[in-house]
Amino acid sequence: MPVILALDQGTTSSRSILFDEKGALLGVAQKEFKQHYPQPGWVEHDAHEIWETQFATLAEVLAKARIEPHHIAAIGITNQRETTVVWDRHSGEPIAPAIVWQDRRTAAYCDQLRQQGIAPLLQEKTGLILDAYFSATKLKWILDQIPGARQKASNGELAFGTIDSWLIYKLTKGTVHATDVSNASRTLLFNIHTLQWDPELLALFDIPASVLPVVKPSSGIIGECTIIPGARIPIAGVAGDQQAALFGQLCTEEGMVKNTYGTGCFMLMNTGEQAIRSNNQLLSTIAWQIDGKTTYALEGSVFIGGAVVQWLRDELKVINSAPDIEKLAATVKSSEGVYIVPAFAGLGAPYWNAHARGALFGLTRGTNHAHIARAALDSIAYQSADLLTCMQADAKIPIRELRVDGGATANDLLMQFQADLLGCQVIRPVITETTAMGAAFLAGLGVGVWKDQASLTLQWKRDRVFEPALPVAERNILLKGWQRAVKATIAWAADQST
Ligand code: ADP
Repeated sequence: MPVILALDQGTTSSRSILFDEKGALLGVAQKEFKQHYPQPGWVEHDAHEIWETQFATLAEVLAKARIEPHHIAAIGITNQRETTVVWDRHSGEPIAPAIVWQDRRTAAYCDQLRQQGIAPLLQEKTGLILDAYFSATKLKWILDQIPGARQKASNGELAFGTIDSWLIYKLTKGTVHATDVSNASRTLLFNIHTLQWDPELLALFDIPASVLPVVKPSSGIIGECTIIPGARIPIAGVAGDQQAALFGQLCTEEGMVKNTYGTGCFMLMNTGEQAIRSNNQLLSTIAWQIDGKTTYALEGSVFIGGAVVQWLRDELKVINSAPDIEKLAATVKSSEGVYIVPAFAGLGAPYWNAHARGALFGLTRGTNHAHIARAALDSIAYQSADLLTCMQADAKIPIRELRVDGGATANDLLMQFQADLLGCQVIRPVITETTAMGAAFLAGLGVGVWKDQASLTLQWKRDRVFEPALPVAERNILLKGWQRAVKATIAWAADQST
């Protein structure tokens, strides 16, 4: 039976997961690695450590599941996006620490570009907003700040890659320098309409084309892994983590949406063959390219999702563990008019207010821990509903269902409230390892383990469907209360400057 190995290289850990051809999970291994914060706002990873932990988990999962390397039909890669590595093509050595997506060191430079009115051009070409988050300014920083880097780059001696490229390079013993379209679309250098690195953007960020990887489809053989003794294994699927999760949820048709409820929430909507320009500062991104067909997505995120539960646990200390919140919240029928707006780090789409801070509304003499716990869970659902409203407005596509994954989806109360607020089904799959599963699906398709996308539908199984049960009138009252709470939160932040 063919086995597929998914490498899931995340922000805090590297993982390796094995799937069989029925989509069943055969084994998982995980290793955390170190986060480096050399200055306020800076976040770095050691690219060597990323590779070492990734390779160690690969070896561990094979040993644990007793799988011989030659049984692996294909390797799929999914990765933390935007994180930037530059290495020397001769020695294979990174010339600087990897600059992580969270790193803000280039924020001031982004502000300068914004003042020059560059943002609309960037949005038009790349689907992204001008932000330090994406790779271009990180790459420019390395080329400008590391002594000799510019010279080496112009001699063609340097290679740039996001983490997928770095892993491909290591897995192929330095013979392949490539990325996939979904990762390329997070760099601010890739034109998502022409599907090429964009010369105008390269000039704008002063990036020599010689450092760039070759851009490949998300499914299909990119190279051969030769680093595992005893086998040559095709690397046949690559996608950034959120895009892989969209694929892993089999949101393969236009209008299908997934939301991942982790520390923050990440929502992506498949918009088919059209890259939709958002009026709400959502991102347009490439979901994947398969068999010559490019699929696009709209993407939005909630900054504080499951993190509000951690806040109740770690700061307010009203629960001992995250799952405890469900039992506590279930002791009351509703929040009884209490709202938490967890704008701890500002508000994202559709409000975009960096100055907003968290707020608690509607307290009465009878408010207790349970109401606050319930309001905290509700706030995750309200913020997700706001995102979905933006997406539907931008895409003009009505949605039928929401597919969910991530740690907080274990919470049935939250999932039911989400269905009630959206008025659509919320569907939780059996295997919630959707990111790794997406990479495995792409890789399996790439080598013919599955013959087409239709045959994948058999691999994705529902665990539970949450049906909307709240009358529309009641839903509207709740949503109105939330909107008032957000409005008041923003007003409070605005008053600060008067
Ligand atoms: P990440 O990948 O961002 O680390 P995970 O998918 O592992 O996140 O999910 C962890 C998040 O989910 C944490 O913020 C935690 O507070 C929250 N969480 C975990 N279990 C529950 C639960 N039963 N109810 C609500 N939130 C939960």
